[in-house]
Amino acid sequence: MQLTKLQIGFCMECGVCTGSCPISYERDHFSPRQMIKRTLVDPDPDILQSRDLWACLSCSRCSDRCPVGIDFPAFITSYRQKARKAENLPRQSHHGIFQTLTTIQAGNLQQSRTSWASEAGIIRERGDYFLFVGCLPFQNAVFHYLDLQMIDIARAALILLNKLGIEPVVSDNERCCGHDAFWTGDDTLFAICARKNIETIRASGAKTVLFICPEGYSIFKEQYPRIVGELPFRMVHLTEWLSEALAEKPLEFSKSTEGTITFHDPCRLGRRAGIYDQPRSLLQMVPDTRYAEMENNRENAVCCGTTAWLECSSCSKAMQVSRLKEAERAGADTMITACPKCQIHLSCAKSNTDIDVEIVDLYSYLAGKL
Ligand code: SF4
Ligand code: SF4
Ligand code: SF4
Repeated sequence: MQLTKLQIGFCMECGVCTGSCPISYERDHFSPRQMIKRTLVDPDPDILQSRDLWACLSCSRCSDRCPVGIDFPAFITSYRQKARKAENLPRQSHHGIFQTLTTIQAGNLQQSRTSWASEAGIIRERGDYFLFVGCLPFQNAVFHYLDLQMIDIARAALILLNKLGIEPVVSDNERCCGHDAFWTGDDTLFAICARKNIETIRASGAKTVLFICPEGYSIFKEQYPRIVGELPFRMVHLTEWLSEALAEKPLEFSKSTEGTITFHDPCRLGRRAGIYDQPRSLLQMVPDTRYAEMENNRENAVCCGTTAWLECSSCSKAMQVSRLKEAERAGADTMITACPKCQIHLSCAKSNTDIDVEIVDLYSYLAGKL
């Protein structure tokens, strides 16, 4: 991202982002404005070797508030591309398994990743709707130790779609969406993933792609056109699609028994895609729902503490525990989210505390009430 002289001049007098950034809150020396200064105004000769380049969560809390429209996550990503070339690489979480899986999926492998679907409902090989499942099959294998059955999220999504008369394409040829590769400066790997996914979706004949995960949704919308040109299908996040479909054709849900519920806005769904109302309206479709907002909600929601399976640290844990305590303060018994990674990271943090808030995925919650 190129900044204009006017933007840079204003920026040096500002600082709105520093007060907005959850990393700046935990680490005194980090600030988005300081990073702009160290790169463009008062260049730090060692900037490409700095660990600070990997600190940002691309949560967009700063860019959402920036008075001169600086997209700091995009800005820092361009420096991450340069840092990679200078062999300054991020610290990978979980021994790099998710980065390895992305690299493997970028090759010419034959996958078998749809067996869960035939047990859960009806899918097709070709059709108008493509259900983009994302990393759930892989996360399912990794996060059993947290008592999470991540593939149940995909099952729940399929059950809801089938109930509403949609038999979507679910494909063995789907690849990693490339979200993490893009935001961590590996544009080559990202472009390979993007091209493979477009080829698969084109072959399915789909006119609409439904995304379970906000990261896949946001990266398709924001970055795929740069790689492959105009996309030959509509992209819809499943919360958007369900809230419209259920308004037209309501399903009968059983009563909520989960106590007071709150919603954690995922950064990619909220600030990057502007989807705030739809998940909340879906929750209100369940009878007897008791709902409470956390203090930081919607545009002000705080990130789940780590992104792209990188740099998970004491800073991440502090953010996650603080978010869970926010839910407790709101009187919530259950925190619902619509992002698999938010669910994983917050469940991970919770597992080492005595915080008594259940963390539940939105689609599993709804499908469980049918
Ligand atoms: S909010 Fe925008 S203009 Fe203000 S310091 Fe941050 S990046 Fe610069
Ligand atoms: S995107 Fe989020 S983590 Fe990164 S600098 Fe902005 S507020 Fe901080
Ligand atoms: S918070 Fe997320 S990235 Fe960090 S250890 Fe837990 S599951 Fe892994």
